[in-house]
Amino acid sequence: MKIRSPIVSVLGHVDHGKTTLLDHIRGTAIATKEAGGITQHIGATEIPIETIKEICGKFLERFSIKEKLPGLFFIDTPGHEAFTTLRRRGGALADLAILIVDINEGFKPQTYEALNILKMYKTPFIVAANKIDKIPGWQVHEDMPFMDTFPLQAANVQEKLETRVYELVGSLHEEGFASERFDRITDFTSQVSIIPISAKTGEGIPELLTMLMGLAQQYLKKQLEIEPNAPAKGTVLEVKEEKGLGTTLDAVIYDGIIRENDQIALVTVDDIIITRIRSLLKPRPLEEMRETRRRFQKVDEVVAAAGIKIVAPNIDDVIPGSPLRVIRDDIKSIKDELQKEIEDVKIATKDEGIIVKADTLGSLEAMIKLLEDIKVPIKIADIGDVSRKDVVNAQIAKQENELYGVIIAFNVKVLPSAMEEIKASKIKLFQGNVIYKLMEEYEDWMEEIKEKRKKKWMETIIRPAKIRIIPKLVFRQSKPAIAGIEVLAGTIKQGYPLMTSEGKSLGRVASMQDKGESRKSAKVGQKLAMAISDAIFGRNVHEGDILYVDIPEKHYRILIDKLKNDLTEDEYDTLQEIAEIKRKMDPTWGIQK
Ligand code: GDP
Repeated sequence: MKIRSPIVSVLGHVDHGKTTLLDHIRGTAIATKEAGGITQHIGATEIPIETIKEICGKFLERFSIKEKLPGLFFIDTPGHEAFTTLRRRGGALADLAILIVDINEGFKPQTYEALNILKMYKTPFIVAANKIDKIPGWQVHEDMPFMDTFPLQAANVQEKLETRVYELVGSLHEEGFASERFDRITDFTSQVSIIPISAKTGEGIPELLTMLMGLAQQYLKKQLEIEPNAPAKGTVLEVKEEKGLGTTLDAVIYDGIIRENDQIALVTVDDIIITRIRSLLKPRPLEEMRETRRRFQKVDEVVAAAGIKIVAPNIDDVIPGSPLRVIRDDIKSIKDELQKEIEDVKIATKDEGIIVKADTLGSLEAMIKLLEDIKVPIKIADIGDVSRKDVVNAQIAKQENELYGVIIAFNVKVLPSAMEEIKASKIKLFQGNVIYKLMEEYEDWMEEIKEKRKKKWMETIIRPAKIRIIPKLVFRQSKPAIAGIEVLAGTIKQGYPLMTSEGKSLGRVASMQDKGESRKSAKVGQKLAMAISDAIFGRNVHEGDILYVDIPEKHYRILIDKLKNDLTEDEYDTLQEIAEIKRKMDPTWGIQK
């Protein structure tokens, strides 16, 4: 068994300093050349332990961090899209993350999104509170540890920094994380450390790296153990054309060894393919690149963790973010394993639900998890462009439930034939390349539909109203009785059942007329002529009588339990009067049994 370097990813809101931080860490490491500088990988940079010791010095001791790890392996592409694309079975490829927040701006939408994604994947992380040099009055001390530069600041500057750190503590608390400034942490297993840094001046970076080492030591013992002779496991970063090389794969290897001429299994949209490695390439050091003008150099083999470019035939359709396996003996079991891994992602699907399409396995998985969080069922989850077949499936889903006539398409195209079908069938399409925006749009739309449904449903609930028969305005005695009425409370509607103030049924409001025109409803204060189906004047109803809507018990419960806040004051009072009348005949009427 050997221990590999933990894979680290940087996440955070746009412009909060992800790229600058990675550049600064790389720059600082390159400058400590004697100690070993950096190891350049494809798509990643590794800082060897000697370099980390040189940069962090006393802090590794102060936080009693034993240097068992070979180094830190930083993914060069920051952001949560890269983070989700780079998956491995059951989780994220990155073992650790830095969540970067501009200390002057605090949490922003993508900070929350990144945090949610980290939560979802249970990835341990630290928070870099960046841009401390922008706090008004800050005195810059290039590349100094935070613990050294902080005491040199004026009292009011220190205070400002403290206030802002506590604002971050507050935001993290709201999201369910206990946190503290790193030097005040009492329990590293339950608190997230916040390290104030400047990615621009390098202040605080020694502690940032120290805390990463500490985090790795706390959490990752098992995860970082590799068998250096086992067939490699990796994740495909990117599939791309290289001049003179043809189609190549960039991949990160997180376990085992991969050699030239190895057979590898890869995943395409509709199949698992087996191919043989023609060459393995790594980046050439900058100095040599200038001489030879070649960007890559061949290697015979690499051991995890490594970022490597692979040249091999038939790899054009490989899906970014999908797994890669070296095959030594048993092709079938590896094929089955990959098949299962893909199906595990897609398995989230239900009989009823929406259609989700995404560009990579990782982004698909992230979308599925986020949708599950908000309890949205998924009928089909797949990789690739939106096709006509997807739209047909959405149409079927829509017949089951209007809310499911939806396609969410992340970072993929909609084929022209599919677009025609979408327009014709009024299927709702949400298309984009920012997960949280897509989710937001979808949620807003769902809210809208639900509102509409609620309104429709509410219209079917019989609401309280009270009327009075105006004396001397009886136009017809019975079958149906017709008289002038005044609405005293609520809104009366055609078809509503009526009763007397003793609770005797009078049938329904057969029709209403106002100045010769028929009316479907009448509001409080209105006077008009009403036909009441079972009323007989002189027998069960008299001039001047007050009549009520005869509310069914079930509707009464719904009004009280769910729609109380929708009732106007006069409606509410009338409802109480109706309940009183009813309870004279049945004392438990409308009371929850
Ligand atoms: P990203 O979008 O998260 O990758 O952010 P960038 O690294 O591109 O940084 C955005 C801007 O903030 C750039 O203009 C950086 O120079 C600037 N910036 C990043 N970190 C710092 C910092 O610590 N201090 C200051 N003053 N500016 C910074």
